[in-house]
Amino acid sequence: MKGKHILYYEFTDALQNGECPICAIIKKRRERYFEHILSEQVNDIGFRKELRSTHGFCNFHTYMFYSFRKPLASSIIYEDLFLTEIEFLKKDKIVPAAKECIVCKIEREAEKEALEILQNYLKDSEFKKIFLDSKGLCVPHYKKAVLKMGNVPKWFKDFHIKRFEEIAKTLHKYIDAQNVSLGEKRPKLTREEELEWKEAMKTFAGLEGLKW
Ligand SMILES: [Zn+2]
Ligand SMILES: [Zn+2]
Repeated sequence: MKGKHILYYEFTDALQNGECPICAIIKKRRERYFEHILSEQVNDIGFRKELRSTHGFCNFHTYMFYSFRKPLASSIIYEDLFLTEIEFLKKDKIVPAAKECIVCKIEREAEKEALEILQNYLKDSEFKKIFLDSKGLCVPHYKKAVLKMGNVPKWFKDFHIKRFEEIAKTLHKYIDAQNVSLGEKRPKLTREEELEWKEAMKTFAGLEGLKW
């Protein structure tokens, strides 16, 4: 255990909680950033300058910030953004918002670091054991991992294909259970199987707001 990267523990903790570890690391980093700006950074000149340079947060992260419902912090930030924008508009300078906002950038870096952890520990036996006992990665992160690594160990590929096949199989079972024409042959569903559609959608899309 000694000498492992701190992110390794975040990664394995998420696996043990049944979450896609890469999504979980991005989510944590995103939340930590908002907590940080809400607690102390709102008045920081550097932060506001950076936010001005990207013309605010992207649409997704704006609504995330909105969901914290912080009237004073929002007023300080948006007064600043409006005044900056008005200056541009007076000069007929139409500047599109940046493709990537501050939080998008933080998330992209967190994702890169998490993918590196995965790559660095794939041959570690303890890591493999935790992985095989988890729900693995979401579909987008499995695809990103394969793209990053070129080829992945056979166990890693087999594990994900089997997991995704099981999801599809459970969805099929659910569909059969709704089919009255099957009569006695209609399968009985567990509570978990009844909710599989949720798991399927989340696994297929990954974290809310995840960028490809
Ligand atoms: Zn994911
Ligand atoms: Zn963003």
